[in-house]
Amino acid sequence: MRQYLDVKERYPDAIVFFRLGDFYEMFFEDAVLAAGLLDLTLTTRDKGKEDAVPMCGVPHHAARGYVARLTELGHKVVICEQTEDAKFAKGLVRREVVRVVTPGVMLDDEVLDPKSARYLAGVARADKEWGLAYLDVTTGEFRAAVIAGEAQLADELARVAPREVLAADLEACAALRARCRVPWTQVAMIAAADATDLLDDEVGAGRELAGRAPAAIAAAAVLEYARATQPAGALPVSRLAVYDPAASVVLDETAIANLELVQTLIGARRQGSLLAVLDDTATAPGARLLRRWLLYPLTDVAHIRRRHDAVEWLVLRPHLRAELRRALGSIGDLERLAGKATLGVATPRDMGRLRDSLAAVPGLVAMVAEGGDAIDAVPELLDLAPLRVPALARMHEALAASLVDEPPALTKEGGFIRDGRDRTVDDCRALAGGGKDQILRIESREKERTQIASLKVRYNRVFGYYIEITKSHLGRVPDDYIRKQTIAGGERFVTPELAELEQKVLTAEETLLAREAELFRALCADVAAEARALAAAGAALAVLDVATSLAEIAQRRGYVRPTVDDGLVLEITDGRHPVIEAALADGAFVPNDCRLDAAREQILLVTGPNMAGKSTYMRQVAHIVLLAQMGGFVPAKAAHVGVCDRVFTRVGAADDLSRGDSTFMVEMRETATILGGATRRSLVVLDEVGRGTSTFDGVSIAWAVAEYLHDAVGARTLFATHYHELCALAESRARVRNVSAAVREHKNEIVFLRRIVAGGAPKSYGIDVARLAGLPRSVIARARQILGKLEGGSQLAASPQLSLVGLVPTEKPQASSSSPVIDKLAMLDLDRMTPLEALTALAELKTLARS
Ligand code: ADP
Ligand code: MG
Repeated sequence: MRQYLDVKERYPDAIVFFRLGDFYEMFFEDAVLAAGLLDLTLTTRDKGKEDAVPMCGVPHHAARGYVARLTELGHKVVICEQTEDAKFAKGLVRREVVRVVTPGVMLDDEVLDPKSARYLAGVARADKEWGLAYLDVTTGEFRAAVIAGEAQLADELARVAPREVLAADLEACAALRARCRVPWTQVAMIAAADATDLLDDEVGAGRELAGRAPAAIAAAAVLEYARATQPAGALPVSRLAVYDPAASVVLDETAIANLELVQTLIGARRQGSLLAVLDDTATAPGARLLRRWLLYPLTDVAHIRRRHDAVEWLVLRPHLRAELRRALGSIGDLERLAGKATLGVATPRDMGRLRDSLAAVPGLVAMVAEGGDAIDAVPELLDLAPLRVPALARMHEALAASLVDEPPALTKEGGFIRDGRDRTVDDCRALAGGGKDQILRIESREKERTQIASLKVRYNRVFGYYIEITKSHLGRVPDDYIRKQTIAGGERFVTPELAELEQKVLTAEETLLAREAELFRALCADVAAEARALAAAGAALAVLDVATSLAEIAQRRGYVRPTVDDGLVLEITDGRHPVIEAALADGAFVPNDCRLDAAREQILLVTGPNMAGKSTYMRQVAHIVLLAQMGGFVPAKAAHVGVCDRVFTRVGAADDLSRGDSTFMVEMRETATILGGATRRSLVVLDEVGRGTSTFDGVSIAWAVAEYLHDAVGARTLFATHYHELCALAESRARVRNVSAAVREHKNEIVFLRRIVAGGAPKSYGIDVARLAGLPRSVIARARQILGKLEGGSQLAASPQLSLVGLVPTEKPQASSSSPVIDKLAMLDLDRMTPLEALTALAELKTLARS
């Protein structure tokens, strides 16, 4: 118990898994907590005694799943192993903490998502500035940045999506914690100067960190915390990348969510996101990099063009692309494999995978090199120099020479070192099966020497190996035989050689396992020593994979290379929405143009009835901009993108199904962020802003916001509204253009054409949509009647009896049209209903109308 308490004292905030024989046991409050969370039976140690210690346990072979469950619930688990064989221990078996598993530091393949990084983040504050650092312990990817303010930090945390965040003062981070709902851990942080020194020693980042104190503090905290989780192994961190958030498009949490870049708004699924449509990568590092490219679109034109060059080069080479995709498919996750070797958690199977991956590299490098020619050389981005370094070839040779073709998943049972690689291994293997070969050899040699044909080498438990000689030949027994036993038919002897052999056989199994493990550790150490080269190779492959994937998607879906420059024009010909298009049958999606220009056509006011395609149109424009700036081709016939510095989107509360009601405040706060944060270079997408409040408020707010964007901000803006009153803005503001989602009225039906045309919508069509939705004819008729009255009034507010706010006609409905449906309809307060409530009400109305 002393040992246990020592460990617990060092890790008071963690659940200690304490190895006792075949179990990991937990004690005291850990036991109570874990028993509840994991559904384990709580027992007590020293049963019957007063204040008996509560305990519970899990079998060691099943521990992995339990540890994963606890960390997914936000707990930290300390793994304390027996580091000495109980057989040889004098007194207490030595135990050591071998690993700490936390939500942010998790190495289990079963839990890790191959397609996304698992970051441990740290934040630190200095005056108004914040530092952010994050590390993926599985790959060693390590980044840090200085962030201007708390709101920006919250947005960056949303983009990074860490699994655990470290901070010096949790209370001071209350607002951040409310936005980033993952476990936060309080840690002590060191001073900036010490942090910079530490990082300079460890990851050579001293110079880059100069003048970036909070980033250095955060990075040092992350590194130290991560290191403390691996007392037995090194971290695969070799470099800290200090990045400037302004070098990529600023995307806040709302924009990432609304544009469904990496997951859907409803259900948070990957399927249905832009990332899912774009991802045809063949490797896990490629998938992770693609996600990063998408979330960090570039603003530097030259850099963007380099990516387009690479994608275009691959688009033009479909044959090479197919070959590359096949070759990439046979390459494993080099980044994580290298990480595992460094962390000391690689299995023989992992190293076999690494060997096979490395084997595929030279062929792949040659393919790319042969793909270029004098006119159209291999693009800069696809420079595969890191894949040609001798270190990789050496590593491959070492792995190939050492490992069997199909290494097992476990180290402890041996059987992974190739025959002929090591004398000890070969000898032990020969002996381990009872030393049959040696015994046969000794037997025939002794037969020869003694000329006794019936001589036999045998084994029993009492003497071990012995030589048996029948009575008639005893006269020929050599002097060096030592008599052991007389039996009925003869005598049994041993020799020093047999005694030695016996000793070897007995220990062969153990020696073999130990030697294999030793060789394997050395092999992993060799790999770890070249981790930097492996990481660089992995990175080059990931870029190749992403570019190939973008090219593949471009060709499969008919995307084009956009023209990108520093201007303020955005011009799209026949643009399509990449996700909706992918979900529809070929050719079913209706393409649309878009022209925005900060100097002339700055604001597009998009009107049109519900379901006509306004939101789709605006999102597709934002998607095309982001795709262009991440370096991809775009779903359009042609596109010209003047680089955007930020992309903002806001969706009116009533349109935002994922949030429900009472979010008008949120909507307004987000609108305020846009008005304060957008520049002339930004792209702003406002979808039905103001819908979360009453109609009059809504129109007024939308109006004022549009004016402000025009007069004070100057950002290229798409502004959808179902308040067609707003169309009048184009008369008073020079850079406002009206467009609308066209519909055709056909025999009293409306048909959505999905075409965005010049000019505002002539009317709102709300009633037509209501009819399409199946509202009873009497309701529709009455609604038309009310609308007529409203439009008849010179002002919206002119008719005191007919307040739009409540849509409650105060005049008595005509007897002829009075019905329970009308009455019920009249009672509805549309402005205060969530979409779901509205649908439910609609369903009730329908039932009512049928009855
Ligand atoms: P609104 O915002 O005007 O209410 P949406 O943009 O949400 O309309 O579009 C409603 C539906 O119409 C979409 O879910 C999509 O299925 C379809 N749609 C929109 N635009 C197009 C288009 N250009 N081509 C084909 N279908 C479209
Ligand atoms: Mg919409």
